[in-house]
Amino acid sequence: MRIRRWFIYRAHREIRIERGADPNCRYCEGVGGWFGAHDVYPEPDLEVCPCNDGPRVRIPLWRRSPASYSTEPPF
Ligand SMILES: [Zn+2]
Repeated sequence: MRIRRWFIYRAHREIRIERGADPNCRYCEGVGGWFGAHDVYPEPDLEVCPCNDGPRVRIPLWRRSPASYSTEPPF
């Protein structure tokens, strides 16, 4: 699922919310990165645009067991 720049998807046992690239970015034009030219290595290296280095939130899906804490009064 995608809401504008935000990607929300389920992976393994958690919900991940990630911010995508800025579609109006003047560096990557919304692509989120580019292939940089290397003089040493023949393979191009994928550079990540700073606008695509957004926050990533992970929400675990498993719940805490209600029996993990005692319901007895402390006294
Ligand atoms: Zn960018």
